[in-house]
Amino acid sequence: AKRAGRGQYRFFDQSLNSNSDIEEFHLEQAFADALRERQFVLHYQPQVCLDSMEIVGYETLVRWQHPDYGLLFPDRFIPMAERSGFVVPLGMEVIRLACEQLVEWQQQGLKAHPLAVNVSPIQLSEPGFCDRVRAEMERHGLAQDMLELEVTETAVLDEQAMENLNCLNDAGIRLSLDDFGTGYSGLAHLESVPVGKLKIDRSLISRICNSHDDSPVVSSTIILAKRMNLKVVAEGVETPEQLVHLKVAGCDIAQGYHLSRPIPAADVPHFHATFNRLQETG
Ligand code: C2E
Ligand code: MG
Ligand code: MG
Ligand code: MG
Repeated sequence: AKRAGRGQYRFFDQSLNSNSDIEEFHLEQAFADALRERQFVLHYQPQVCLDSMEIVGYETLVRWQHPDYGLLFPDRFIPMAERSGFVVPLGMEVIRLACEQLVEWQQQGLKAHPLAVNVSPIQLSEPGFCDRVRAEMERHGLAQDMLELEVTETAVLDEQAMENLNCLNDAGIRLSLDDFGTGYSGLAHLESVPVGKLKIDRSLISRICNSHDDSPVVSSTIILAKRMNLKVVAEGVETPEQLVHLKVAGCDIAQGYHLSRPIPAADVPHFHATFNRLQETG
């Protein structure tokens, strides 16, 4: 990245929006360097079951530990990675990192919990994506149900995406629909996509201000999801009031700053033990 010099910086300058060939070139160079130098790391956000108040899994969130710019969040580089196609190798790197982490925690005797990994629609439209994910899990000796893939809805899922989704589902890899309620959400979608979980987007959860039902959209979504035998996850839970409301409304799992921010891998074992002990002692 350093080699790219001044030109490189422009990719991180929000005010510039040029797409010149030279800039594209620098960006691809920076991404390639980052991959080779293993600058991508995962942070982990706990998902908590509202019945037992126990951690039932973690969502992995990618960060770019950039030598010059520090820790970069996905909003800064995922859109560019999607435009350039780099999101495909990056996505496989993320899956590899998640598998490695699962193996490490298993070796440390940490109770096994599945990891949820975000997948871009571009990855999903790649021929052979399903096979590559399955191969990676097998290479690490992991049970297929230790991985969950979070897919976001797009206007249309092309044939290749549907093929990958069905293949992943048949293989026993869990699928969840991320950011529900934001974009193209439609009930028709839900019936054709083989997901087992629905994640209600933070923008809907943030409308819950008290523990009464002041967000009929959220409570209706939960009822709908239940009717379709889907588990429901609430994203972006920031207050105890939201947690209470969601529990009363029948939501299964919650995730958000009120429970924990995403944390580095090294902090997970301690956080996990402390959180569950807290719940035991009330
Ligand atoms: P997402 O999958 O919907 O992930 C949830 C985002 O909300 C994360 O942001 C998380 O840190 C943040 N969040 C969680 N709880 C709260 C809360 O209570 N309040 C607020 N304000 N925010 C909360 P992050 O890590 O910046 O990731 C942003 C998006 O980037 C993700 O949205 C996902 O779409 C994408 N992303 C992250 N990792 C990957 C990846 O490995 N591959 C791909 N393709 N996309 C990824
Ligand atoms: Mg997600
Ligand atoms: Mg989401
Ligand atoms: Mg999102």
